[in-house]
Amino acid sequence: MARTFGCARVVFNDYLRLRDECRAAGEKISDTEVQRRVVTLAKLTPEREWLGEVASVALVQACQDARRAYRNWFDSLAGVRKGRRIGHPRFRSKRGRQSVRLTRNGFALHGERLYLAKIGDVRVKWSRPLPAVPSSVTVVREPDGRFYVSFVVERQAVPLPACGHEVGIDVGLVSLAVTSDGEVIANPRFLRKRERRLAQAQRAVSRKQKGSANREKARHRVAVMHRNVRETRRDHAHKTALRLVRDNQAVYAEDIAVAGLARTRLAKSVHDAGWAQLLRLMEQKAAHYGRTFAKIGRFEPTSQVCSACGVKDGPKRPSVRQWACPACGTLHDRDVNAAKNILAAGRADRRNACGGDIRPGPALAVTGEAGTHRGAA
Ligand SMILES: [Zn+2]
Repeated sequence: MARTFGCARVVFNDYLRLRDECRAAGEKISDTEVQRRVVTLAKLTPEREWLGEVASVALVQACQDARRAYRNWFDSLAGVRKGRRIGHPRFRSKRGRQSVRLTRNGFALHGERLYLAKIGDVRVKWSRPLPAVPSSVTVVREPDGRFYVSFVVERQAVPLPACGHEVGIDVGLVSLAVTSDGEVIANPRFLRKRERRLAQAQRAVSRKQKGSANREKARHRVAVMHRNVRETRRDHAHKTALRLVRDNQAVYAEDIAVAGLARTRLAKSVHDAGWAQLLRLMEQKAAHYGRTFAKIGRFEPTSQVCSACGVKDGPKRPSVRQWACPACGTLHDRDVNAAKNILAAGRADRRNACGGDIRPGPALAVTGEAGTHRGAA
């Protein structure tokens, strides 16, 4: 496995390097040609002949990954890609998480065992039965030394019975999210405690001498804690996403890139990561259960507009948790008001997309008056 990880990494990095060189030289080169040079031809050179020792599917998939990474960067530069600007794809490192992806001809299931090309049968501790025949498998080694396999399978959607409620959710400044119903979704308390301990352990690593056995031990401790934090957060996100999607016919949220714009200084990367994960899970679950999930696409000053009368009250400092609308006198909780505006904007977007064919919900009267994007569209 270590050898396969290594070869896939080298091919990925060679791909990026070759693309960069061609770009600098102004040379046009096809994807097939890049792949031919970094895999097929590279195997014939003495510096890269060991590429022949591992499954070639893994190398081809590494090329595909590199190609997608490069394309995303290019599209982002050209402004074709939506969302936050992304940088040049990062070269894969020997350290940290390692992964390879294998398609149909690179793996097989032998009863309880997983056969991997050029490696052989591997014992797997199954977390659940596979619902269908998988089309690809990804083998991952996490920095804590554990191996995981994940399969791509087709799944039948199971639509839930329709329900009349809709909700808007906003990234809370203190909590994970706040809904337009006024519900505060906090991160679990033990997650905060774990995050604090993780930060301590990370400082401990930097105090150890580079290359020493103690540093390696400390690094492993960090990796294990990281796994705990990651899995706790993911578990919480799964449960939250499922509950929101199950209890609402439609869920509207602010896009992560937009949210970043709105609170540049406050957007902590940890918080962003948690938020992005929650959005992704809601999107997947909504598709699976036949519910609607939509991100509001434009920049909306959701925390500045009164959700009751639509008056724009100007920017507010993060310390301002509550405010009263100067026009209609409504007392607002900052985050709940933002979530209400998101709900209104989401509904308006959807109505426009459907040509006004949506049955108005009970709170729709508010939408018309909220005017969060009057003049913005
Ligand atoms: Zn008002």
